[in-house]
Amino acid sequence: MTLEKANYYRLPWSMNDNPIAWLEVTDICNIHCEGCYRQYMTGHKTLEQLKEEVLFFKRWRNPDNVSIAGGEPLIHPQIVELVAFIAEQGIKPVILTNGLSLTPEKLRELKKAGLAGFTMHIDSHQSRPGWKDKTEKDLNELRQHHADMIAAEGGVYIIFNSTVYPSTYHEIPDIVRWGQANIDKVQGLVFITYRTATLSDSVAIDQKDRTVDMSKLSYVRETFDEKFVTSPEVYQIIKDNFPEYEPSGYLGGSIRHDSYKWLIGALVGSRRGMYGSIGKKTMELSQIGHHLWTGTYLAYLAQSRIGKKLFFLSPWDPTLRAAVKNWWKDGLRHPGRLFDKVYIQSIGIIQAPDIQPDGRADMCDSCPDITIYDGKFVNSCRMDEYRLFGGFVSVMEKEAQDQMAK
Ligand code: SF4
Repeated sequence: MTLEKANYYRLPWSMNDNPIAWLEVTDICNIHCEGCYRQYMTGHKTLEQLKEEVLFFKRWRNPDNVSIAGGEPLIHPQIVELVAFIAEQGIKPVILTNGLSLTPEKLRELKKAGLAGFTMHIDSHQSRPGWKDKTEKDLNELRQHHADMIAAEGGVYIIFNSTVYPSTYHEIPDIVRWGQANIDKVQGLVFITYRTATLSDSVAIDQKDRTVDMSKLSYVRETFDEKFVTSPEVYQIIKDNFPEYEPSGYLGGSIRHDSYKWLIGALVGSRRGMYGSIGKKTMELSQIGHHLWTGTYLAYLAQSRIGKKLFFLSPWDPTLRAAVKNWWKDGLRHPGRLFDKVYIQSIGIIQAPDIQPDGRADMCDSCPDITIYDGKFVNSCRMDEYRLFGGFVSVMEKEAQDQMAK
């Protein structure tokens, strides 16, 4: 089955009305991830600066949550005060972390301050102490440790994300399978496709047409001979292994009409089985309903134990209707299961920027992970181009540049 945009809801998010605000508190980290877009240049921001940025987002972004990012936010000395400040503004604080310095005590403190949830990045291309040369399947043990700790505390949600490399693509089903077995504890999974630029065959030009030293960017490599994984490929491997999975919303590209930059969906199931997914209509109703009810669009569900009340939307949604049918069928075979709790678990797929032949990058249309740099909104994945070269650079193949120079 191939993806068709007509089958999915184009998320109504925009620059000034977007559920996510990406607040970077530090560029220091306690591990290194191969796919990381940030490098150490300035250190921790002050609490005062961070409060100003929160208020800037509140004024210009209308966020449902603030994604507190970095670097590693948990090592910021005033992270608890920051979480409390965001919660006081009526916005959900969410911490994007590698989890290394998360302890039950820290978790309790953050929850008390008003933390809504975590997005935890774990994958096999991180320099994580004690987890060298592990597969994604091995790392499920670490995911389990964090999921159990957070579930034991209660009231805080957890989404796990991982970068997908050509070498780990085939391991995606291992993570999804683990997620399904923990649908009562894990609210979502996100897969981000790895992108890099290469020094051996490309050059970078700044906005004044000057060649810049691209090697200063942390995400640039000498060479990369593999083929980048795309969102449709991630969709396909999940679909092939879990036929009940189906996305329901998307964001396209800023240049290409046919790219799927964000594909989001949600599985419906219980601890004993998956029934199906929500469809386009449920996604549309939940976005519009949330906006009518709270004034903001929705990115993360704080609670995955939606229960069977979700089934009331099935008359409008054929995909959800199929899930309800499967729930009934399963219940007729095993009547005890009709009393099982029903959960939803989101699955997000993100295809990071793709360099086009003319040097421009196809970005996520209405980029949800926009951050603030120098009083302006900037795509967080490319902020280091601003920090190092004063603006976005164009990356061109050396051959193409030579042709232009002739
Ligand atoms: S364009 Fe925005 S959403 Fe897309 S990868 Fe970059 S920062 Fe993330």
